[in-house]
Amino acid sequence: MTAKILSGNEIADAIKREVAAEVATLVKDYGFRPCLAVVRVGEDAASAVYVGSKVRTSEELGLISEHHHLAAETSHEVLLKLVENLNNRAEVDGILVQLPLPRQIDEREILEKINAEKDVDGFHPLNVGRLAHGQNALAPCTPAGVIEILKRSDIKIAGEHAVIVGRSNIVGKPMAMLLLQENATVTICHSRTKNLAEITSQADILVAAIGRAGFIRGEHIKKGATVIDVGINNVSDTELARELFDETELEKRLKIIEKRGFTLVGDVNPREAIEKAGNFTPVPGGVGLLTVAMLMRNTLNAAKARRNI
Ligand code: NAP
Repeated sequence: MTAKILSGNEIADAIKREVAAEVATLVKDYGFRPCLAVVRVGEDAASAVYVGSKVRTSEELGLISEHHHLAAETSHEVLLKLVENLNNRAEVDGILVQLPLPRQIDEREILEKINAEKDVDGFHPLNVGRLAHGQNALAPCTPAGVIEILKRSDIKIAGEHAVIVGRSNIVGKPMAMLLLQENATVTICHSRTKNLAEITSQADILVAAIGRAGFIRGEHIKKGATVIDVGINNVSDTELARELFDETELEKRLKIIEKRGFTLVGDVNPREAIEKAGNFTPVPGGVGLLTVAMLMRNTLNAAKARRNI
C-alpha cells in the first residue's frame, strides 16, 4: 500500500482565499479591517521566523497587522502593560504573544491576561473551557488545522477511533476536544502510556504530536489508517535521515542538510508510514502550513464576534 499524501498547501491556500474574500466584504459592508497584534520578546530565531510569516500573511490577506518586538530583558510588568493596552484598544481584534517567553516572564499570567475575545491562539482558560464544553470558542490553530485537513480531504471522523500521541495544552489536549466534537472515539497517549504500539495500531486516525523525529514507526500504524504528523524537528544526522527516507527523497534531504545544516522531519517515520498508512501528511508541507491559515481565520472570527457580525 502507498499512502495518499495529504498536502497542506492547497488546503491552507483555500482557507487563506476564503479569509481574504471575507475581509474584503467586511471592508465594503462595514468599513473596517480586522487587526492582529503580534508580540515577540527577545531574539529566538524560530520565533522570528514564525512571527514574520504571521505578519506577512496578515498583510497578504488584507488584515491590519501590528508587530510589537520587545527586548529580551523586558520585564514581566512591561509586557503585562502592553497586553493591557492591546486589550483596551477597540480596533485590535486579535492578540498573539509568541512563545516561548524569556525566563523572567510568567507565561501563564501573560496568557491569562489577554482578553479571551481577542485570544486568537486559543490558550486562555476561558477558551479552553468553552472548547471542553463544546461551545463556540477560539480553538488553538494547529489542532483546528488538523480538523480542516481531515474534513477537506473527505476523511470520515464520526465514529472513527482517533488516537493522539501527545497531551500538550497547545496540540494534544485541544486536538482531543476537537475530535470529540466531531464525534470520534478518542484515546490520548503520552510518555507514560503502556504498550503504545498496541493502542496506536488500533487507530483509524493517528495524530502524532510528540517532538521526536520519526518516533512513530510502521508497527504503530494500522494498515490503511490516516496518519497526521504534527511534529516539526530539525534533523542534521545523515544516518537518521537514511532511516527515514526512501531513495528519491533521501537524496533531496541530504542536499538540504549539506546546505542548511538540517532538514525538517515530523514525529512519524515517513518511509514506513507511506508503506502502511492510507493517508499521510508530509513534513514539511502538511499540518505546519495550516497553523498560520487558521490564525487568520481565528482573527477574522474574533473581529466578527466582537462586533456581533
Ligand atoms: P510537548 O509540549 O513537548 O509535548 C509532547 C508530548 O509528547 C507530551 O505529552 C509527551 O508526554 C509526549 N511524549 C514524549 N515522549 C513520548 C513517548 N516516548 N511516548 C509517548 N508520548 C511521548 O510538544 P508539543 O508542543 O505538543 O509539540 C509536539 C510536536 O508538534 C513538536 O514536534 C512541535 O514542534 C510540533 N508542533 C508543530 C506545530 C505546527 O504548526 N505544525 C505547532 C505546535 C507544535 P508527557 O506529557 O507524558 O511528557
